[in-house]
Amino acid sequence: MVTQITKYRRNKVINDKGNRCYYCGDLLNSRNLNIDHFNSRIQGGKNNVENLVPSCTYCNTVKGGRNIEEFRERIYELAKKPKNLWLYLKFDFSKNENIKFYFERLNGNI
Ligand SMILES: [Zn+2]
Repeated sequence: MVTQITKYRRNKVINDKGNRCYYCGDLLNSRNLNIDHFNSRIQGGKNNVENLVPSCTYCNTVKGGRNIEEFRERIYELAKKPKNLWLYLKFDFSKNENIKFYFERLNGNI
């Protein structure tokens, strides 16, 4: 389903939540900026500003229709593959440590 997010909403999300990916903390620019539904549409998430967060293309793609805990599990799974070792850096965690997403490191709430 194509979801239209108005320019006003996009700008409000960036103004309210900053221009870093809500999940990994990467700095966003016009090339990698996505607006993600924190509670995914497929799981009943709404299109309101409170449910929208800035996200890099990678996080937006991998999270897809997952909720936040499913997304966290997916990153753990992906990071087990040698070719994905860079994910430890991206999400700033180690093998024996829980992933803390950027918004969690900020103690942010949605
Ligand atoms: Zn990200």
